[in-house]
Amino acid sequence: MNIANYSEFRKRRKRMLRGIATAIVASGVALGIALGCYKHIEPSIVQEPVVAQGSEQQSKTLQHYVVCLDPGHGMSNRTAGVYDPGAVYNSFREADYVLGFAQELGLLLKNKTYEVVLTRSSEHEDCPLYSRGNNALESNSNIFISLHVNAAPGSSASGPRTFYSTEHDRELAIYIQGELVRKLEQIFGNIYPSSLETRVIREPDFVVLRTTQQIPSVLVELGFVTNSFDRQYLLTKRSELEEALLTAINKYFKS
Ligand SMILES: [Zn+2]
Repeated sequence: MNIANYSEFRKRRKRMLRGIATAIVASGVALGIALGCYKHIEPSIVQEPVVAQGSEQQSKTLQHYVVCLDPGHGMSNRTAGVYDPGAVYNSFREADYVLGFAQELGLLLKNKTYEVVLTRSSEHEDCPLYSRGNNALESNSNIFISLHVNAAPGSSASGPRTFYSTEHDRELAIYIQGELVRKLEQIFGNIYPSSLETRVIREPDFVVLRTTQQIPSVLVELGFVTNSFDRQYLLTKRSELEEALLTAINKYFKS
């Protein structure tokens, strides 16, 4: 082999080796995806990319998260064709309140480029209790948040509480409870005993938490409709509570 031929031979060998290396990497990636080794790919990735405003790196990363909001109770919750109003106090109906809350929070989240799934979006839409978890899982949601308002036989119980069922839900529950309490104390001063921040409660028996165990899921009781102070903030500070949840969700995904 003369020098010209040898140099040609080396070039061809280099090209061939590069081709083999590319093929090995490509098949490795394909195998990895097939085996589920790679991070779960959200459907939003195949959609049109959201153009980040300014240089907000946050917008680029948050667009891939899907948040399932579950307004508690409503049509066919427990019995087909029957509207379950949840807690009722005079004209206040829990099911109506949390539906409005979820819709508004959904808009706030969409503005931050999250995808939002609602388990029900009107008072007429059937939403059986046992279907809610499926809604979240079938839509590839990353987290599930069930929204409720509490009621008690007396009027003394007050403040938000956040329930979770397994250890991998707890972090989300802590962020949500913490931001709700922080927001209320920003508005009303240091009103709560320090124990309130720790009202993050393990409750493995709630149906919506049992049926969403594959993803971090929590049930939030925003306050007690049976307590006059809570009624006041539920009715007059709703958008502030929604902002608190938005902040909690942002912090959770950034942590
Ligand atoms: Zn409820």
